[in-house]
Amino acid sequence: MRIDILTLFPEMCEAVLRESIVGRSRERGLVEIYSRNIRDYTQDKHRRVDDTPYGGGTGMIMQTQPIYDCFTSLCEDTGRRPHLIYLSPQGKVLTQARAKELAAMDALALLCGHYEGVDERIIEEIVDEEISIGDFVLTGGELPALVLADCVTRLLPGVLASDESFERESHYASLLEYPQYTRPYDWHGMEVPEVLLSGHHANIEAWRREQSLARTLARRPEMLDAAELSKKELELLEKLRHKN
Ligand code: SAH
Repeated sequence: MRIDILTLFPEMCEAVLRESIVGRSRERGLVEIYSRNIRDYTQDKHRRVDDTPYGGGTGMIMQTQPIYDCFTSLCEDTGRRPHLIYLSPQGKVLTQARAKELAAMDALALLCGHYEGVDERIIEEIVDEEISIGDFVLTGGELPALVLADCVTRLLPGVLASDESFERESHYASLLEYPQYTRPYDWHGMEVPEVLLSGHHANIEAWRREQSLARTLARRPEMLDAAELSKKELELLEKLRHKN
């Protein structure tokens, strides 16, 4: 998997991408992530990349030419056309399910807007998909692009210790994860649930599944519609619903 971030702030992206799990995965060659500076492609003699909006209004709009040339040069350099995503508050909100689909592609390019956004014609001409990270507005697409790159990288083979690490996590199977504990056993008088110390795997499994269901029901009941539950789990869910 190769991810190219098209941005006016490559250092901001690099600062994040060289750390922790993503940084190590790049070093280990499990994912290639590069940042490309859109400003390097401007043909303006003052290196400008934005201008005022036609029709008036506040803020600046990123111009078509530098973005178009940045993307075209990426296609030429790599010999293929990556799936181009524009990070935008007007896109479909990112989900774990979409991240899983994107993780199966072999090349992604992430276009980061800034200021008031990009000239609409660049979206019409070269963007394949618009993705939002939530119903709020940020100053630029860099943080959203980093969120997306992180989320996708995490799903690539070999990045996490075992596939189990994410298969049972929140949102993977349309359930939230059960609560987790580590040492010490007693923290400020709060003890770890006894079942987790029992060593009885089936009981632990059942407890975790129940916690998962109860949490999802309490916090995100709408997620349960998409969850695949066994008959026993459906019965348990009914009981939990009655308790509330
Ligand atoms: N005027 C635009 C918002 C511009 S915000 C509008 O009303 O739609 C500036 C840039 O930040 C955008 O081009 C986009 O790349 C990024 N951005 C802001 N909020 C975002 C979000 N929730 N998800 C993804 N990208 C976002």
